[in-house]
Amino acid sequence: MTGLLRGRRRRLAWVAVTASIAAGGGWVHAESEAAASDECPRCAEWTVSQKPFRVYGNTYYVGTRELGAILITSDAGHVLIDGAVREATPQLIGNIRALGFKVEDIHLILNSHAHFDHAGGIAAIQRLSGAEVAAGPSSAKVLTQGRSGPDDPQFASLLRGPDPVAHVRVISDGEVLAVGKLRFTAHFTPGHTVGGTSGTWMSCELSRCVSSVYADSLSAVSAPAFRFTDNTTYPSVLADFARSFTILNSLPCDILLTPHPEASDALVRLRRRADGFDPSAFIDPGACRSYAERSRSGLEE
Ligand SMILES: [Zn+2]
Repeated sequence: MTGLLRGRRRRLAWVAVTASIAAGGGWVHAESEAAASDECPRCAEWTVSQKPFRVYGNTYYVGTRELGAILITSDAGHVLIDGAVREATPQLIGNIRALGFKVEDIHLILNSHAHFDHAGGIAAIQRLSGAEVAAGPSSAKVLTQGRSGPDDPQFASLLRGPDPVAHVRVISDGEVLAVGKLRFTAHFTPGHTVGGTSGTWMSCELSRCVSSVYADSLSAVSAPAFRFTDNTTYPSVLADFARSFTILNSLPCDILLTPHPEASDALVRLRRRADGFDPSAFIDPGACRSYAERSRSGLEE
């Protein structure tokens, strides 16, 4: 494919997305253009719509069928975790509105890792909401520059970066972020990227409060030439993965959510709950440990 055609397709996709945002929802248009972009070969799957739903208490799923985005709400403002791929921005916005919430009430945006499939839409949602975007030092750099560095295991195969975010507040490991009464603890869980971050918070329903975890991807996915042993651009990659598995094992974890919903069976759990088989299908205190265990065997392979 020529560079000219590639450039034209890119512009088409962007025009479609911005037009749909302005219209407040015609994301089907964006979906068809998204499928045509050769810098996002998986956009057709990633933009398949998912009806938003309550996970537990004030925690809602607002992502697409294959890319997670979580909204945690309060009377004093909301928190959004992850922004999916930029082509899905109209869907995320439509999902938030369909639940009866205002995008303008999002006060804080967090990110699992700064790849374009989880951070691509953050810049647009930040502009619409005026929310603060917060990330650890490595992710903050990628988000503001709009591109990953050579220390990213996927550096050589990434087709694009996230859309650059105008301002990112740099946070530290273990930092607690507040929006109204909401409290989020950031846990750095590097490995998949240097800046990988997981988040924990409490979700309450009636008198029962549970520990919720949004665990970053811990998959050892890389460009073909990247070596996980004796790596020179990311020397601590194996030690980082090991530390992240330990952190996931030790977190209080009643509900696990992940950037790729299938990694935590989110939609399977939703079906089990909707079918009435298991009213508390999302509550699974062993979920973080088995996620860490599966990721560890993936890395060993
Ligand atoms: Zn990734």
